[in-house]
Amino acid sequence: MGEATAVRARLRRGIGPLYSGALHFAFTSAVALAVIALALSRLHSPSALELLTVPFTFLYANFVEWRAHRGPMHRKIRGLSLIHERHALQHHAFFTAADMQIDSRRDFKMVLFPPVLVLFFFGLFAVPVGFALRLAFGPNAAALFVATSMGYFLL
Ligand SMILES: [Zn+2]
Repeated sequence: MGEATAVRARLRRGIGPLYSGALHFAFTSAVALAVIALALSRLHSPSALELLTVPFTFLYANFVEWRAHRGPMHRKIRGLSLIHERHALQHHAFFTAADMQIDSRRDFKMVLFPPVLVLFFFGLFAVPVGFALRLAFGPNAAALFVATSMGYFLL
């Protein structure tokens, strides 16, 4: 057994017997798609200027992703060590340059966010920024921000 195979076997042993990759995937997709649908249902004839929210949100989300990788995802930070454990120690050990594929739905655990982090990031970033944008630029900018940031997360 190669070293990478041994690491995969060890990490797979940590996935509980009741874990369902299909359910995890369905939960993540359903939450994100429901939020996107709700946000877009609040959109009414956006102006060209308001539509600029989409590319700016994409850049902001990309910055947040970069910052998260520079910070808690690749460095152990007190209180956020679960993120470091999941990303640097598990995700990057499971997927290596030599072994990138998913072998079964149970391997979804090594790719998808834990449901608690989906709610954490949504509550911490999407909701407050959405409310701030609503106050500053109106409901269309807020709706486009929420829809785009959830779309980015789903990507
Ligand atoms: Zn990484």
